[in-house]
Amino acid sequence: MTEPDRLDIEVWCSLTLPERRAALVDALVRELQGREEVTGIHIEIGPVGREYDMTAVVETDVGRLRTPLWSHARAGLYCDGSIHEANRRQLSPALAVAEAADRLRRRLAVPFELESRGLTFQLEPEPGVVRSWTAEHSRFRKRTAVVREDRVERADEVDVRDLLAHFYSGPSVRLVGADGEAFLLPGLTEAEGPLVTLCRSCRRWFEGSEPGCPDCGSDAVDTVVAATFPRR
Ligand SMILES: [Zn+2]
Repeated sequence: MTEPDRLDIEVWCSLTLPERRAALVDALVRELQGREEVTGIHIEIGPVGREYDMTAVVETDVGRLRTPLWSHARAGLYCDGSIHEANRRQLSPALAVAEAADRLRRRLAVPFELESRGLTFQLEPEPGVVRSWTAEHSRFRKRTAVVREDRVERADEVDVRDLLAHFYSGPSVRLVGADGEAFLLPGLTEAEGPLVTLCRSCRRWFEGSEPGCPDCGSDAVDTVVAATFPRR
């Protein structure tokens, strides 16, 4: 007999929060087995009332990496017996662990090149996109620069403004051309996390990006990236 899968619906929904957290840690440990960089794994629980807004924390020899693990909304639906089981299984914590492990693996041992002029490394923030970060001193022009370059495959047909908006990560900016034509570059945080819609009227929040509040109907909503701040 193998041990029952504690992440599967019937078992999971009968467990307590500490038991579920332990099951998630065990699953993440299995996913990252054999990674020598990893010296410890734990899971941070969300604030009171949103305990399942969890963050996976991987300790390495040089410090911690964090990534969002699951969401309170998904956790509630997973054990909601009024929802069809096939739909609930798509929200499985096992999938969430696998996705978090995948994100962590891509960030655990990223090679960098250190040359006399500077340091360079690359990430793949999404399929078909190579992001290079370079910090370098230019010997001849007495110039120092930190440059982020996103090389995007097959983006020829995409409007350059849309492309810029997709990858831009600073605060919102009103850009003005030489001919006086203006457009808004929306702000976005660099934070990794799920999109949530915040309703300013009824003060509720919802998973995903919604044009209006699904509850009170107000269009006074903001879509934001949910990020977890490091806590100690
Ligand atoms: Zn509302």
